Amino acid sequence: MSKRDYYDVLGLQKGASADDIKKAYRRKAKELHPDRNADNPEAETQFKEANEAYDVLKDPEKKAAYDRFGHAAFDGGMGGGGGPRPGAGGFGGGQGDFASAFSDVFDDLFGDFMGGGRGGRSRAARGSDLRYNLRVTLEEAYNGLTKTITVPTSVQCDACTGSGAEGGAEPTTCPTCSGMGKVRATQGFFTVERTCPTCSGLGQIIKNPCNTCGGNGRVQKERALSVNVPPGVETGTRIRLAGEGEAGVRGGPPGDLYIFVEVTRHEIFDRDGVNLQCRVPVSMATAALGGDIEVPTIAGGRSRVSIPAGSQSGRQMRLRGKGMPALRGGGHGDMFIELAVETPVNLTARQKELLKEFDSLSEDNNPESKSFFKSVKSFWDAMKG
Ligand SMILES: [Zn+2]
Ligand SMILES: [Zn+2]
Repeated sequence: MSKRDYYDVLGLQKGASADDIKKAYRRKAKELHPDRNADNPEAETQFKEANEAYDVLKDPEKKAAYDRFGHAAFDGGMGGGGGPRPGAGGFGGGQGDFASAFSDVFDDLFGDFMGGGRGGRSRAARGSDLRYNLRVTLEEAYNGLTKTITVPTSVQCDACTGSGAEGGAEPTTCPTCSGMGKVRATQGFFTVERTCPTCSGLGQIIKNPCNTCGGNGRVQKERALSVNVPPGVETGTRIRLAGEGEAGVRGGPPGDLYIFVEVTRHEIFDRDGVNLQCRVPVSMATAALGGDIEVPTIAGGRSRVSIPAGSQSGRQMRLRGKGMPALRGGGHGDMFIELAVETPVNLTARQKELLKEFDSLSEDNNPESKSFFKSVKSFWDAMKG
């Protein structure tokens, strides 16, 4: 029987990422779970195969060797003392081997299910991260600003200095779990670990809880914080204030505070990354004759722009360096203005007279309509004939 390709075993394409390999392996491990496969003798073999494949592919060195040489990489004793290998002989399907192979997965799965804190005796849990949504205007995003925000958060209790015990007494070891924070229960083939119900996983209990904080070592408070918002922020920019999140449980380290920036819509400017876009109305006469106009800039000033004679509606012009600052330095973007040629309304009798006279003289002044009507005529001719 020839040996199956390790990637095939896990249902992967060659060269799959470490993340995909791990995911695929976990899927297999669950699928081939002995509890679900009581009457499927194949499952055990497949399980061993998956375990062997993972043993190689999870290890960057072994994976590289396998990618180059295939199974031959491990035939000559290369690859070190990896897991059980059916092809290498001596794997008779004995219960001992199977159990040890299985306990590998069990560890691996539980490592993640339990949040990685397996067996740890640390009971000082880190505080949660906090999120604060901060709205700024486009002008503020342009200039940057320092803003004072008020954050409702839990901070260390002063009365017990965070220990949770009245008068600063030391907490005692939880009798239910002997300080492990977890209890074990046997369910058929498995031993399942659960968070200890007596101490909620902290491993310690407090006989006389602190009156101020009720024993968790933290109290709710509003804190004022000064946030430095750099020029160039965009909607979605996150600013991290390390250690400004919730206080840890019983003296644990605090979490972080994340400021999520939202830049509000501007009345005049549309933003596209570091560039700004602005639509500027110009009169029909200015568009035809050319002339200077003034446009506003986000910095608060104004810029003169020369409109070339004969500009059409929709014409784009670029003002270099008048856009937004780049968040990580490196100058400013550009500002683009788009001309919107306005058709005059509410004409006086005199204006109408002038325009009529103008129109009677303007046969050659409208290149676009000339070519349009030429196309229309040939279209109609083609339809007729
Ligand atoms: Zn306990
Ligand atoms: Zn307290």
